[in-house]
Amino acid sequence: MMLIDTHVHLQHPEYGNELHAILARAAIAGVEKMVVAGYDLPSSREAVKIAEEVEACYATVGIHPHAAKDVSREMMEELERLASSSRVAAVGETGLDYHYMHSSKAAQLASLEAHLELCERQGKPIIIHDREAHDDMLTALEGFPVNRLGGVWHCFSGDLLLAEKIMAKGWYLGIGGIVTFSKELAEIVRQLPLERIVLETDAPYLAPVPYRGRRNEPAWTATIATRVAEIKGTDAETIAEVTSANAAALFRI
Ligand SMILES: [Zn+2]
Repeated sequence: MMLIDTHVHLQHPEYGNELHAILARAAIAGVEKMVVAGYDLPSSREAVKIAEEVEACYATVGIHPHAAKDVSREMMEELERLASSSRVAAVGETGLDYHYMHSSKAAQLASLEAHLELCERQGKPIIIHDREAHDDMLTALEGFPVNRLGGVWHCFSGDLLLAEKIMAKGWYLGIGGIVTFSKELAEIVRQLPLERIVLETDAPYLAPVPYRGRRNEPAWTATIATRVAEIKGTDAETIAEVTSANAAALFRI
């Protein structure tokens, strides 16, 4: 099996010094590539460092909408320097999170806009975090010609109508552990074309069944692939093949 985990936070402090053990388990599970997503400046630096040291890993750089209020011009300048590395596959995660509102709407929108401009300048795709902000998210994207660069709606949590709007851009939907315990998401996945799905763990968060409540890790991309295969009425091998080809095309990895 050849899987790609398109969204994992291997630089997260929860992993301590266990990175090598985690990478070894991922390899055994058939996870050949991982996209290590940045969520603030230090974690973006760390993601690039891991991607430079580990061939199977690629980085993304970005500031999570929770931290949007702290975004400064200097921060975006450093992100841009990091983003120019050939080991950086995308910009993000960025977006809007109206669930927690750790930053104001205005701050989140301004940060998102700065990230979109970074995508344009660097010619790289975007990783979108959207929680309870679907309409503002779509509106914010309208103003930018980012469609040709591609993007992924990480941890997709919308309905079919939103999925259709995202797919109309030629973008992908990131499907993770939630699909192993949410009937609603399973039903949406059943109706989506496999050609628009990429798999992600979002580890250390959102561990799939039967590991719920535990620290998630990239090896469990295989568990998600097995569940998607059940939903789609096919085998995990096919799911791995198609979703990995999707991820490879999106991130050019
Ligand atoms: Zn994430």
